[in-house]
This record gives sequence, C-alpha cells and structure tokens, in this order.
Amino acid sequence: AVAMTSEKEAALAAVPSDSPTIFDKIINKEIPSTIVYEDDKVLAFRDISPQAPTHILIIPKVKDGLTGLSKAEERHCDILGRLLYTAKLVAKQEGLEDGFRIVINDGPSGCQSVYHIHVHLLGGRQMNWPPG
Ligand code: 5GP
Repeated sequence: AVAMTSEKEAALAAVPSDSPTIFDKIINKEIPSTIVYEDDKVLAFRDISPQAPTHILIIPKVKDGLTGLSKAEERHCDILGRLLYTAKLVAKQEGLEDGFRIVINDGPSGCQSVYHIHVHLLGGRQMNWPPG
C-alpha cells in the first residue's frame, strides 16, 4: 500500500481561503462521487475516505463565503439549518436508527481540509467520546 497523507496532515497543509474547492467539481459533476441526496440547495455524497460504515458529507451548492462555520453570518442561518436537516434525512435513509455522529471541522486546529463548509454524517458503528 502506498503511504497516504493523513487527514490531519492534509488539514494542516490546507490553506484557508474562499477559492473554489474540489467540492465545486463534485457539485458540477466534473469529478465523480456517490451522491446519496440532492436538491436545489444541498448535496450529500459519500466521503472518499470513510471513517465509519456510513460517512457522508452534506454541503451547500452555493458556498456564499461559507468556507467554514467560523465564517457564518446571519444570512447563512437558513442554509445552516438545511444542512443539519438534510443530515437527519440522510441518516434515516441510511438506516441509522440507533444513532449517528455529526461533525463540522473548522480551521487548522479543527482538522478542516476543504474550505467549503460541510457536515460529516458518521454512523454504522459505535462512536467514541471524547473524539480525537
Ligand atoms: P474536513 O477534513 O475538511 O472536515 O473534511 C473533508 C473531507 O472531504 C475528508 O473527510 C475527505 O476524505 C473528503 N474528501 C476530500 N476530497 C474528496 C473527494 O474528492 N471526494 C470525496 N467524496 N470526498 C473527498
């Protein structure tokens, strides 16, 4: 197996910016992904490096400056709510009846590696606390 850059290394190497990210290419279907939910405002697709049997990312189709949660403004309240509501819908669709974990990484210390806000939905195994 080829040594892969760890998620933490990727996060520390990522430069926070409002530039387009790989998620724009996923939204525009320029690169393939396994989409599990889509509407006019949000997209949910399987993480390429799953950390649980179910690991899905939920993102807004229009970033509108929302590179991460720390950049949230009052105008983002509707889309922030929609991201969480979509996480609930997808959790149900995935059959996560016993529970699930929602994560939003923010900034280098939060291990964020892609600067287009995204909600991680993790499930299908027992989660641990505290998280790493
Ligand atoms: P973050 O570390 O920023 O919270 O999460 C970014 C996530 O995006 C990571 O879990 C990473 O595996 C995932 N990811 C990065 N690039 C791609 C990609 O091209 N396709 C998919 N499906 N997931 C990706």
